[in-house]
Amino acid sequence: MTLSLFAVYGASGYGREVMPLAREQLRRQGIPAEQLVFVDDHPDVQTVNGQRVLRYTEFMQAEASTRHAVLAIANSTIREELAARCAEDQVLPWTVTAANVVILDDAVLGEGAILSPFTMLTSNLRIGRHFHANIYSYVAHDCVVGDFVTFAPGVKCNGNVVIEDHAYIGTGAVIKQGKPGQPLVIGRGAVVGMGAVVTRDVPPGATVIGNPAKPFLKG
Ligand code: UDP
Repeated sequence: MTLSLFAVYGASGYGREVMPLAREQLRRQGIPAEQLVFVDDHPDVQTVNGQRVLRYTEFMQAEASTRHAVLAIANSTIREELAARCAEDQVLPWTVTAANVVILDDAVLGEGAILSPFTMLTSNLRIGRHFHANIYSYVAHDCVVGDFVTFAPGVKCNGNVVIEDHAYIGTGAVIKQGKPGQPLVIGRGAVVGMGAVVTRDVPPGATVIGNPAKPFLKG
């Protein structure tokens, strides 16, 4: 019988944090760690923390009934490119969730997400594809989060916030809650700097820093 093969795509910093979560998730499902590998397009070594590292071509050539990959690369543009490549090759998106994640009522999570330890999704919220919630982050009630959104550690996203595709929220940022029917909106591809306190909408593509968060003007 040919077995399924599971991959953590990206064998660098974030991938090394996601691998033990993936291993533990498979263990809970009774799937042995031998069916789990790193995939990396530019591998430096053959094993990382005891887990094999395959190039993508090797991953595709390995015998497997189905292939599953979680994209553990913080850069959302790369994530989108790799998601398209995987979809084309019938590599299934894989969601990895730490054992202690708390998810309340009616929280809809898109495919390929990573929920790191001590993260929380509260009630009545929507999250798109390939979301990353790094350690100690939360998304509160009635939020709508787009595709390829990235939360660094410790992001506090309060209720009634809309975060559009490809936004990046830095470590320890706090996002003020919006109102029902009048959400606070963080635009597509916006960057919220670490420790920022976001009190009003952030335009698409803007970078904001500070408390209260203001546009970061280079130079
Ligand atoms: N990588 C890859 N394919 C790509 C782009 C990146 O396999 O198309 C790998 C890259 O070789 C590296 C990892 O993804 O090992 C990204 O690591 P980085 O330290 O840049 O980011 P992080 O781990 O913090 O997301």
